[in-house]
Amino acid sequence: MRIAVAKEIEVCERRVALVPDIVARLVKQGLEIWVEAGAGERAFFNDAAYEAAGATIIADSDRLWSEADILLKVSPPQEREDGRSEIDLLKEGSVLISFLNPLGNPVIAQKLAARKVTALSMEMIPRTTRAQSMDALSSQASIAGYKAVLIAAASLPKYFPMLTTAAGTIAPAKIFIMGAGVAGLQAIATARRLGAVVEAFDIRPAVKEEVQSLGAKFVEIKLDEETTAAGGYAKEISEASKKRTQEVVTEHIKNADVVITTAQVPGKKAPLLVTEDMVKQMKPGSVIVDIAAEQGGNCACTDPGRDIVAHGVTIIGPINLPSSLPVHASQLYAKNLTSLMQLLIKDKTVDVNFADDIIDAACITHAGEIRSTRIKEALQTVTSAVS
Ligand code: NAD
Repeated sequence: MRIAVAKEIEVCERRVALVPDIVARLVKQGLEIWVEAGAGERAFFNDAAYEAAGATIIADSDRLWSEADILLKVSPPQEREDGRSEIDLLKEGSVLISFLNPLGNPVIAQKLAARKVTALSMEMIPRTTRAQSMDALSSQASIAGYKAVLIAAASLPKYFPMLTTAAGTIAPAKIFIMGAGVAGLQAIATARRLGAVVEAFDIRPAVKEEVQSLGAKFVEIKLDEETTAAGGYAKEISEASKKRTQEVVTEHIKNADVVITTAQVPGKKAPLLVTEDMVKQMKPGSVIVDIAAEQGGNCACTDPGRDIVAHGVTIIGPINLPSSLPVHASQLYAKNLTSLMQLLIKDKTVDVNFADDIIDAACITHAGEIRSTRIKEALQTVTSAVS
């Protein structure tokens, strides 16, 4: 059985699906690993390192895609420059494991099903204790939270820590983090390490203790509705609750030097948390880093992929932050993939066992069918909007 690592063609994707250390472990288990020539280059893993780990380097990309039994990727498959779809290069019955964004782009599931590919989407891995080692959303979100704080610190025209110097005392920067999930919690930890005073807010009250244990103050807003959905994710909240939270957070945003927004609701556009009016009330020179930029942004002024200045506030809308730390992002992602493959490979052959809750949740297409009701519904919404 052949496992292949494809080279990412997305311009801003620097990560690679497997790193040489992990390749060596898989080769030791008797698995054949193919790596597309140059696949690890942008993450600083060269072909020689993969070869030394026991992989075969394949220069012919079409061959790698069409002869793989399991094809591993980071970003979803794309159209190539010559107009050919990468999905069409896969052989029928093969397995694709990658981020696939099937709720945001359900058409991809339709194409994979038509190609009779067994596709496992890394976004669909359940957030359970057993699946923790495969949870790529968490491993990558944590990087995004860390990097967002570094970007904010580099853009703020002030120190983060309190300093007592002969020339006077510098007050610490005030950071307000909105959304205290995996990225938000890592942002809190990073900002605290840099000496800032940190406040955080989330509509899920369950995160209060985690926020406090990291040394930040939790901004508590009592809402008259359930805000947590199945799986521990946030629910989309009512207009009344949105208004109530906006009233309270405005005061905290006004006082902050840095606002980092990380709020997301799976399968939906990111909620609007910072209105233009709130931006106007911020101090000149303040910084907003909007990690949710790719999902539409939590700030009304965010321009995804760009740094802008609006009303004296620098607003940064980074795209694919994990890719900006490609060495560790790839290392962690590779570990997530191999943990998942342990459930998928029995006696060196692919065994798709739907009795396993992780495989059942992550596998979005098999034998020509889309397996998830949520993806089918999302597809219906897209196709009815087009017709
Ligand atoms: P996410 O990226 O979907 O969202 C980020 C955060 O935004 C969440 O904390 C969410 O509550 C918050 N949010 C959404 N709407 C908001 C709003 N209007 N205002 C303020 N905040 C808002 O979430 P995530 O970081 O991927 O984590 C989601 C959940 O999964 C969390 O409960 C996390 O603890 C849990 N989780 C569990 C495991 C596990 O048990 N193995 C692993 C990872 C995550």
